[in-house]
Amino acid sequence: NTRRMHTGEGKNEPRPAVVTVMGHVDHGKTSLLDALRQTSVAAKEAGGITQHIGAFVVEMPSGASITFLDTPGHAAFSAMRARGAAVTDIVVLVVAADDGVMPQTLEAMSHAKSANVPVVVAINKCDKSGADPERVRIQLGSEGLLLEDMGGDVQVVEISAVAKSGLDKLEEALLLQAEMMDLKARIDGPAQAFVVEAKVDRGRGPLATAIVKSGTLVSGQHIVVGAEWGRIRSLRDTAGKITESAKPAMPVEIEGLRGLPMAGDDVVVVDSEERARMLSQGRKKKQEKDRLRKIDE
Ligand code: GDP
Repeated sequence: NTRRMHTGEGKNEPRPAVVTVMGHVDHGKTSLLDALRQTSVAAKEAGGITQHIGAFVVEMPSGASITFLDTPGHAAFSAMRARGAAVTDIVVLVVAADDGVMPQTLEAMSHAKSANVPVVVAINKCDKSGADPERVRIQLGSEGLLLEDMGGDVQVVEISAVAKSGLDKLEEALLLQAEMMDLKARIDGPAQAFVVEAKVDRGRGPLATAIVKSGTLVSGQHIVVGAEWGRIRSLRDTAGKITESAKPAMPVEIEGLRGLPMAGDDVVVVDSEERARMLSQGRKKKQEKDRLRKIDE
């Protein structure tokens, strides 16, 4: 029964982890993403030059890979969750070794906890003379985070995003965490995906970066993304190369939408232009109703 296969009971296969970086302002989230991006597949293939499409993939010497969402911070994470897009598997909690636990550190912890997403702690700025990673450990412990060196299972690594030290240890910790979670997804059948970033390009029109949750997204398919619709004119990988299809946890840039979707929107594959248009119209009507109801309240 193909229908059953396509509704999620197909064979599940291992997939890469999708990771979000969070932490207090100025603790080094952007610097960490910059440093990691330089080790990404895209950077290697394009000679160090990467285009920002909202996500990138780091490939480990073992052949395993990790997908990073390229937008730091809590707003993006919350916006995605509010729209039901549970794309993040692991949160990297960045804490500056000189500054220690701050309000947004705690906020990130509580976001991760309520989303039931495990945390890997990266104690950053360990190159600084005022760095005190031990103090950070104690602070985190007293906030209820069960660190591995205290008998818990939350991994902690000491890094410097600027000196680029400890990044390999962080990547290893993430792979170990992913392994423990035994992340799997159905690969066959129509894709279910979520938008992580969207923008309008002057020449190419609306572009949406999506991460496939399950199934395979294929170029040429009719899709509805949030309340927008279109047909996939092309898919590009994080290196900007045209690709025919995208499998779970692989970010792709979708070209061919008629309007601009939002981060957190779902991507649904339908079998005709007619259906795409109908579903899009239905969703737009519902959005309008919800909007009017909000004004009423
Ligand atoms: P964000 O607000 O969390 O994204 O933090 P940024 O990445 O913008 O970093 C804030 C400041 O801390 C910048 O001036 C960075 O250069 C600096 N910074 C970030 N990581 C490190 C690090 O590992 N060591 C040192 N010494 N400075 C860092």
